[in-house]
Amino acid sequence: MKNLLLIGGGHSHVEVIRRFALQRDANVHITLVNPTRHTPYSGMLPGLIAGHYTFHQCHIDLPALARTAECRYVEAAINGLHADAKLAFCDNGETLEYDVASIDIGSTPATLGIAGASRRGLKVKPTDRFLIEWDAVLERAKQNNLFEGFRIVMAGGGAAGVEVLLAVQYRLINAGFRAGQYALLTDGDDLLPGHSEKTRALFHRVLQQRGVELHLRQRIVAVNRDRIVSASGQRHSADLLIWATGAAPAGWPKACGLAVDEAGFIRINDRLQLVDRPDLFASGDIASMDGYERPRSGVYAVRQGPPLAENLRRVLDGKPLVSYHPQALALALISTGDRYAVASRGRFFASGAWVWRWKDWIDRRFMKRYGVV
Ligand SMILES: Cc1cc2nc3c(=O)[nH]c(=O)nc-3n(C[C@H](O)[C@H](O)[C@H](O)COP(=O)(O)OP(=O)(O)OC[C@H]3O[C@@H](n4cnc5c(N)ncnc54)[C@H](O)[C@@H]3O)c2cc1C
Repeated sequence: MKNLLLIGGGHSHVEVIRRFALQRDANVHITLVNPTRHTPYSGMLPGLIAGHYTFHQCHIDLPALARTAECRYVEAAINGLHADAKLAFCDNGETLEYDVASIDIGSTPATLGIAGASRRGLKVKPTDRFLIEWDAVLERAKQNNLFEGFRIVMAGGGAAGVEVLLAVQYRLINAGFRAGQYALLTDGDDLLPGHSEKTRALFHRVLQQRGVELHLRQRIVAVNRDRIVSASGQRHSADLLIWATGAAPAGWPKACGLAVDEAGFIRINDRLQLVDRPDLFASGDIASMDGYERPRSGVYAVRQGPPLAENLRRVLDGKPLVSYHPQALALALISTGDRYAVASRGRFFASGAWVWRWKDWIDRRFMKRYGVV
C-alpha cells in the first residue's frame, strides 16, 4: 500500500480526487489536507460577492468529494515538510507520512514590504476569511450602519481587483447603501495588464460610469490607521481597504528547503514534479514551471489537474511520467458586477450580458463535476 498525500484542496487536486474516484487504485491510500471544509471556486467569487450566487454554489465540499475516492480528509494546514523523511507537519500537531505528496495550496495577495499591510485591510485570499469580513460589512450596510461617504479602496488593478471592486459596489448599492465612494489603486501604468486595448477601454468606461476613481502608478509603500501611502508620496484615505495585489507564495516551502524561485514559488518541471525531488509534485498558483512564464490564474491550475492525476498514478506504479505544456494564452471572463462580462484572450475581445451567461454556464458545469448543483 502506498500513501499519496494531497496538500491543499485547490483546483488541480479536486480533479485528482475525482479521477481517482472514477478509477480506483486498491494499492493507493490517499489523504487530503485542507484548512477548511469548503474550497472556493474563485471564478464565481465576484458573483458571490455581488449576490448572484450562494456560498454553496461557489464552494466544493472537500470531505464529501474525498469520500467518493475513499480518501481520508484531514482538516488542517500543512506548515512544513521533512522531505528526506517524507513527513508533512499539520498545524493541529499531526504528522503525516507519505510516499508521494503533491502541493496545491494557492497563493495570497502580495503585500510583502508594505509597512502596516499585515494589520490593515482585507485580503481577497484566503477566501474564507475574506467572506467573513465581507459579511460583516454587508450587515452594517443593511442596518444602515455605514456612514455617508464610506470609502472603499481596492489595491490591485488586475482582473481580480477590478471584478471584486465592481461586485462590492453592486452589492452595497443593492443593499440600499448608495452614498459610498470607491477607488482603485494600481502600481501599473494602466488597468488589467496583459489584456487587450479593447478590454482595458471597456473597464475604463465602466469605472467612470460607476463613479469609481482610478489612480494609476500608485505603488503602495505603507498603510497607516486611515491613510494609504504611495511611493510618490500621495496619500489616500480608506474606511475599507481590500488587497488584490498579485500573488505571493506561502513561506513554508522555502523555509523547509524545497526548490523555489526568487519569489518563493515552488519550482517544478514539465511533469509537475519538483525539480529536485521525484516524490514531490506541485501545481496551481504555488508552482512555477521552469521554462514557462505564465500568469497565475485558475485556468492553469484547472488544466494541470488531469496530467497531475496521471503522473501521480504513474509515479506510484513506477511508470514513466508524461509531459505537460501549458497553453500560451488563457481565456479570461471578467464580470462587471452586474450580470455582464467581458471575454479576453490575447487580442480576442467580446462583451455583453451573453458573455456573463456563457461564463455562468461554464462555471456551473465545472462545479457540477465536483458534486455542486
Ligand atoms: C477574486 C478572484 C477572482 C478570480 N477569478 C478568476 C477567474 O475568473 N479565472 C481564473 O482563471 N482565475 C481567477 N482567479 C485566480 C485564481 O483564484 C487562482 O489562480 C486559482 O484559485 C489558483 O488555484 P490553486 O489550485 O492554485 O489554489 P486555490 O484555488 O487557491 O486553492 C488552494 C487550496 O489550498 C488550501 N490551502 C492553503 N494553504 C494550505 C496549507 N498550508 N495546507 C493545506 N491546504 C492549504 C486553501 O484553503 C485552498 O482550499 C481569481 C482570483 C481572485 C482572488
